[in-house]
Amino acid sequence: MSPATPSCRICGTARPGEAGAAAVAGWVSDRDGRGREGWLCPACARRHVRDIESKLDAEWW
Ligand SMILES: [Zn+2]
Repeated sequence: MSPATPSCRICGTARPGEAGAAAVAGWVSDRDGRGREGWLCPACARRHVRDIESKLDAEWW
């Protein structure tokens, strides 16, 4: 069992690990305001891309 299974930090969807590169495509590695690393699933990444690019504080997520 992996101590840090990647999952979307917005909706909690588990990131597919061994399903192949295609299944992982679209997932975005991201850091929040506190420097913690996290992942966004394709859907959430699309929805929040503007916030990410504007460096909006992640507190409200
Ligand atoms: Zn998500």
